[in-house]
Amino acid sequence: MSKILIIYTGGTIGMVPTENGFAPKKGFFINELKKTPYLKRPELPDWDFIECDPLLDSTNITHNEWNQIAHMIEKDYDNYDGFVVLHGTDTMAYSASALSFMLEGLSKPVIFTGSQIPLCELRSDGYDNFVTSLFIAGQGIVREVALYFGGYLLRGNRAVKTSADGLIAFSSPNYPELASAGIDIEYNHKRLLEAEDLPLNVVEIGPHRIGVLKLFPGIRFGVFKPIIKAGLEGIVLETFGTGNVPGYDPSLPSVIKEALNAGTIVVACTQCMQGTVRLKAYETSSALAEAGAVSGYNMTTEATVTKLAYLLSKGYPAEDIRDLMETDLRGELTRPE
Ligand code: ASP
Repeated sequence: MSKILIIYTGGTIGMVPTENGFAPKKGFFINELKKTPYLKRPELPDWDFIECDPLLDSTNITHNEWNQIAHMIEKDYDNYDGFVVLHGTDTMAYSASALSFMLEGLSKPVIFTGSQIPLCELRSDGYDNFVTSLFIAGQGIVREVALYFGGYLLRGNRAVKTSADGLIAFSSPNYPELASAGIDIEYNHKRLLEAEDLPLNVVEIGPHRIGVLKLFPGIRFGVFKPIIKAGLEGIVLETFGTGNVPGYDPSLPSVIKEALNAGTIVVACTQCMQGTVRLKAYETSSALAEAGAVSGYNMTTEATVTKLAYLLSKGYPAEDIRDLMETDLRGELTRPE
């Protein structure tokens, strides 16, 4: 019989109505669980529950809470067979991505979940998301950070919140689902990370100066020079298509070069939901590559930002970070053949 630790961080699943809209309430979630007799069924693993203080709408989650969650897992790593992290949906894909990098050597399931409708409301999706996550964590087949929502188990650092109000709120546009939950939980065994049995090592993430710049037709790069000069450690450029940037504004290569000279890591991602960056495939991406930007290939923005923060926190030299940004560390990117 496996034993799972449930970590409640806040989010809609345990929220109650207040004068100012839904907000998390201390003690509410565990009281709801205690009222639910089927959580004692023998098919489910044994579980313990801990609640973060304060409980947060995930809009307010920062690297501080990522560190807190990581240390909670570290502290009880040997006492449990897996972990379920209950989290708000808005930034769940960022937290799941961050934890996938921070938990070096992870070989147990860490399943993020939450809901779009609070448990206290009729038609809440919280019960299925929670019970199925607990069940999946108890099975112990997935030994990585994953996100379960609306019937699908996704790799944490491949997930994106793609619906603000649908009950299937997350997608994994560039990687197949790890499992789907119908009558049975059907695992996509070939797609799971192979965990090595290493000791767990938590890498704390610090407050790094990272910027995300989404291109749009007509963008003037000179406008961003002052921000870059202010000493950004990393810039994620959300480029068009396969890594293309407009050529009408000649200040881009010089802005990128200035950033690089100042030690900034510049990573090109794509605005497209699917597919990969291929720098130099078009004339419009060559200048970016020649200026020294690296490719984020098919990483989500969530994975790119958190991976940058993780690598910066490890204190690696810029050259190593540039190489590692293009290297698959936790199943977060696929390099084109
Ligand atoms: N704003 C909420 C949160 O992210 C939304 C949710 O949980 O669905 O905490």
